[in-house]
Amino acid sequence: MKLEERLISRSENKCELCASAGKLNIYEVPPQSGGYEENTILICNKCLAQIDKKEEFDAGHWNALTTTMWSEVPGIQVVTWRMLNRLKNEAWAADALDMMYLDDERLAWAKATGDHENDTAVNLHKDANGAQLHEGDTVVLTKSLDVKGSTVNARMGTVVRNIHLVKDNTEQIEGRIEGQMIVILTKYVRRQA
Ligand SMILES: [Zn+2]
Repeated sequence: MKLEERLISRSENKCELCASAGKLNIYEVPPQSGGYEENTILICNKCLAQIDKKEEFDAGHWNALTTTMWSEVPGIQVVTWRMLNRLKNEAWAADALDMMYLDDERLAWAKATGDHENDTAVNLHKDANGAQLHEGDTVVLTKSLDVKGSTVNARMGTVVRNIHLVKDNTEQIEGRIEGQMIVILTKYVRRQA
């Protein structure tokens, strides 16, 4: 059987973190690689977005961690431990962490990404109205921009398609206006639905 088939069989085609039956993604628990079954888990879009901090943290989504903490699958244990650490301000999560046991090797893996030190704060790109921006979105300029060193006509109302989110700076996106790629501040755009 291929890896994906083995994972579907193991998970009974449900998210291995929250048991939802939506669309599932193969998640190789970082920094492991090589496509081993024990390091790889099937998770839903919501769990993936939460883990990757692509949306606001939702503590209420993670109740099933008190079940997955007893899983015998190393990848599930490691992700459970990381997420419980993010949640450890919640009494139930702190209690679960106290009860959870990982051997030294697995604990080292769990700590390897530094993810457990993350709190629940999520930094997202947001437009002028506070709506979350995504890679590839279309936005409209809410202000005429003066693009330094360029003749680009970036007037209010200009539509910018297929934006790119600037990594590590949630106040900036990149987009093409009149064929030229420029950096735009998120506070001067509005997301187009
Ligand atoms: Zn899930």
